[in-house]
Amino acid sequence: MTPLTELWQAAITWLATHAVTPTVHWLDIAQAAGDPREIAEAVLIAGLQLFLIAGVMRPLESLFPAERWSDRRLTTVDRNYTLLMLLGLFPLFSFLVLMPFASMLGGGPAAEEATGLKHWVPWFADHPVALFLVYYVVYDLVYYWMHRAQHVIPWWWAMHSMHHSQRQMSCWSNDRSHYLDGMLQSFILATVGLAMGVEPSEFALLGLLSELVQNFSHANVRLRLGWLGRVGERVLVGPLFHRHHHMLRDPERPTRHNCNFGQVLPWWDMLFGTALYTDEPVRPTGVSDPEVDADNERGLVAMQWHTLKRFWGAFRRREGWRLGDVSFGPGYRPIHDDDGAQPQPAAGAAAVTGTAGAAPTAPGSAASAPRTSR
Ligand SMILES: [Zn+2]
Ligand SMILES: [Zn+2]
Repeated sequence: MTPLTELWQAAITWLATHAVTPTVHWLDIAQAAGDPREIAEAVLIAGLQLFLIAGVMRPLESLFPAERWSDRRLTTVDRNYTLLMLLGLFPLFSFLVLMPFASMLGGGPAAEEATGLKHWVPWFADHPVALFLVYYVVYDLVYYWMHRAQHVIPWWWAMHSMHHSQRQMSCWSNDRSHYLDGMLQSFILATVGLAMGVEPSEFALLGLLSELVQNFSHANVRLRLGWLGRVGERVLVGPLFHRHHHMLRDPERPTRHNCNFGQVLPWWDMLFGTALYTDEPVRPTGVSDPEVDADNERGLVAMQWHTLKRFWGAFRRREGWRLGDVSFGPGYRPIHDDDGAQPQPAAGAAAVTGTAGAAPTAPGSAASAPRTSR
């Protein structure tokens, strides 16, 4: 064991003994709660992630901002999304849904025999880091194609557009997504993990690394690291790379926003021709479809509810299944760009041609901007 792993294990033991065990006994749920060390590790991971977001990435946003904002009003709801996800929903969902799902499919913590990759290549059983790396490359590839589907299938875009509607993208924005979309993604990715024989408990700490890359890729940060930054952005997805994915559509180049779908590895975008690397000033983020942009005026619960209605409006109609870029009309009916709803450079076009350092688009002004940017 390396000194770092020893320290990590010692921290888990301390927390399990002094906090988790007394708490579950006090609540009289010791039997149902399972191994206190697993709970302690989950709590430590959430704490570490929060510390790195709030204590490292957030100060970097103030020091090296990609966009300058006079206030950070719109980021508050994203911070609530992150806190809710890390401190409540994700642990609950993992213990109550994903673990039973894993056991049902014959994998997960209850599996007695090695499955998936460990079964086919026993060497991996003793080399969990190598197994994680192989697993992660496959996982990330599946994520890439799933993400492209989220953009091109209208009922899925109805949900994913909520992640894109943020006009002040920050280190808190990664967890801003619809919970139905999150569940759908979790089941798809968990199935891939199980097919490869991944045990969630083995990968908790390594999984944190990929989460941190994603938190950082949403940060409002523009770091100039010269060639180091250029090489780095081709190894891992960074803040400028992902910011291009979130940009408002440029009316002059309407297909250009269709780029940079990678989650952690930018390799798939390079391989499949969707990578965009450019030194041009960053563009404002958001979706200028007025129906989707209205998310910015909603709190967490209202945002979930309206997005669910948007999803249902698309899911129950034939247009919601026809692939292509859409905006949403009355009754959340998807309107395809191909059907004549092409965005027009409008009076509000100035709102989407800002550069680095520009003030954020004023609330409501996107309503007059082109409709189907993402
Ligand atoms: Zn996206
Ligand atoms: Zn994103």
